[in-house]
Amino acid sequence: ANQLEIRNLHARIESGEEILKGVNLVVPKGEIHAVMGPNGSGKSTLAKIVAGDPSYEVTAGEILVDGQSVMEMEADERARHGLFLAFQYPVEVPGVTNANFLRLALQAKLGQDVSVMEFYGKLQKALQILEWDESILTRYLNDGFSGGEKKRNEILQLMVLEPTYAILDETDSGLDIDALKVVSKGVNAMRGPGFGAVLITHYQRLLNYITPDVVHVMVEGKIVTSGGPELALKLEEQGYEWVKGLAVAAG
Ligand code: ADP
Ligand code: MG
Ligand code: MG
Repeated sequence: ANQLEIRNLHARIESGEEILKGVNLVVPKGEIHAVMGPNGSGKSTLAKIVAGDPSYEVTAGEILVDGQSVMEMEADERARHGLFLAFQYPVEVPGVTNANFLRLALQAKLGQDVSVMEFYGKLQKALQILEWDESILTRYLNDGFSGGEKKRNEILQLMVLEPTYAILDETDSGLDIDALKVVSKGVNAMRGPGFGAVLITHYQRLLNYITPDVVHVMVEGKIVTSGGPELALKLEEQGYEWVKGLAVAAG
């Protein structure tokens, strides 16, 4: 099975409150899917759990990468199995340059050394597509990066690490149009038979630049409906009230 599969995923937070209530999602390799939904529906929680965030308790379900369960794997092991996870607010790591971090991350993912030449080759290509200059490489990781720079840097990481599957959680607030375009260029450059992605977004506008193969709508911890790109346009026009009704109908 060449796909990322999330099967009946249930998860709760420390208080015992259930946030994910049976998420089912299949993303075949080669496809880009969007997950949309109202604020608080559990989209970011889903991304974090796939990343292996230990602060959530998974009470049922599975996450399978090409048929193999990653449930018992730590975050770094999941990365070695081809998963890439970027976050709305990546951590700042003072003292580690961006280039060093990227090379270490690539070596960790591949489980072997990467020559400086090979590494810089990949970097150059990615920087060109992102219209970014090399000065970003010697800066400390995320230290003083603007929101747009962090976002662009996530996409740089994506392009250098070349994962099989990526979950990209877009912030609901304040990505300017330039940042959106950069995200889109990077994701569109990655598009191909060996890459699958989930784009999490509250707004339709990102999907003007990246045409998803499938759009899923998450409400109250479940995917309540799925469709083509036209579903995103319908949500943009009509809002989320009608899908909340679907959640009620689904129980
Ligand atoms: P979305 O990304 O769709 O806006 P989230 O996954 O961020 O939704 O949040 C879903 C719900 O779970 C929200 O009500 C949020 O407050 C709650 N939640 C998520 N993570 C935590 C946490 N670590 N502690 C407490 N509540 C949380
Ligand atoms: Mg939110
Ligand atoms: Mg969110």
